[in-house]
Amino acid sequence: MSKKITSIRGMNDILPEQTGLWQWLEGKVRDVLASYGYQEIRMPIVEQTDLFKRSIGEVTDIVEKEMYTFDDRNGDSLTLRPEGTASCVRACEQHGLLYNQTQRLWYTGPMFRHERPQAGRYRQFHQIGVETFGMNGPDIDAEVILMTARLWKALGLADKVTLELNSLGDSDDRARYRDALVAYLQEHVEQIDEDSRKRIERSPLRVLDSKDPGTRQVLENAPQLADYLNEEARAHFDGLKALLDANGIAYKVNPYLVRGLDYYGKTVFEWVTDALGAQGTVCAGGRYDGLVEQLGGKPTPAVGFAMGVERLILLVEQQMPELSAPVDVYVMAMGDVLAPTMTLAEELRDALPGKGVQLHCGGGSFKSQMKKADRSGAAVALIIGEDELANGVVTVKPLRGQGEQVQVAQGDVANAVTSLLA
Ligand code: ATP
Ligand code: MG
Repeated sequence: MSKKITSIRGMNDILPEQTGLWQWLEGKVRDVLASYGYQEIRMPIVEQTDLFKRSIGEVTDIVEKEMYTFDDRNGDSLTLRPEGTASCVRACEQHGLLYNQTQRLWYTGPMFRHERPQAGRYRQFHQIGVETFGMNGPDIDAEVILMTARLWKALGLADKVTLELNSLGDSDDRARYRDALVAYLQEHVEQIDEDSRKRIERSPLRVLDSKDPGTRQVLENAPQLADYLNEEARAHFDGLKALLDANGIAYKVNPYLVRGLDYYGKTVFEWVTDALGAQGTVCAGGRYDGLVEQLGGKPTPAVGFAMGVERLILLVEQQMPELSAPVDVYVMAMGDVLAPTMTLAEELRDALPGKGVQLHCGGGSFKSQMKKADRSGAAVALIIGEDELANGVVTVKPLRGQGEQVQVAQGDVANAVTSLLA
């Protein structure tokens, strides 16, 4: 016998027992996004490799270590998207959606990163992302944060996540800060962990989110980015905080929050939880005013964020919401009555929009059909046998303790079922 082929490590099947919860979550997200007037955009999963190199940054974990890059049959270098922002900017720019207008967009889908798989970290994972373009004030930063806060309420997660904020200033601010930080870190290089030492020259800001206790201690007295912000960046950050305060959104300013992608400037934020161990960030984003221009467009202010769907599912599962059963009505045919039973099931689907009507297929004894009816989760079984057919009735059997089995005229079945499903 040949060896069975299995899925690729870190790339998971989402099985039928899980998809109900995914759909529930996606539905809540869709509703919240629609209530703010955001529109969906769908981009391809594969892009030119240069798109990610030029946007995320050459010296980032994603580009250096995590991308799935391959040559296609023409010899072009392509990459499975590791995130959505770059593709979204590319798509908007390509189709002229950014010139002289504002956009509020969202997307969802799989992303690919070659990381070490563990709970909450996979090689194919899913994000729901939001990107806004053309608005440069702190009002839109506040709006996207308020929107996420509303979403946590809708998902029942409001008391599980907290908001962390920082401002990265503009690129000049970061360059000046970078010099000061490098000088300071070099003075204390002895107490700093291996990984962070390698980063001092290449991407010193990433040292700020090191988890190493020795490095953390050194960082306590390190220069702070907040002291290097220009006037405008500082006013923008103050404006955002004032809007959040006025709208009752609690946050913590985290001076070590820098994010691992090069394109961010000014506002950055993360929603974090302590219920998922090391994979604690469920939503991350910020402002990236320089990216559109960097990818060849006109200077365009932009703010966005992305949520990790698997991590949100892990959180939501801890307090499993009531999901509606996939099947409401189970229809059984006993004897030579298949055609009229199938017709009845079709009529019920017309009469009961939004309800699941499942027809038993494949025959079998009454007992085995009843077992399947029970297992389907349906609230009602309908039974048609030859007697029922001859008398123009249907046997209606409640399956969830809603009373006795009765026979009703065929024309009354939909009403009888509706009252049982209510
Ligand atoms: P982390 O620090 O956890 O690696 P990140 O900074 O690389 O996250 P982003 O690129 O900002 O993550 O992606 C936004 C969100 O997508 C993350 O906050 C997380 O919820 C989710 N995410 C990122 N990488 C993965 C992954 N490999 N598996 C599952 N979810 C992920
Ligand atoms: Mg990462």
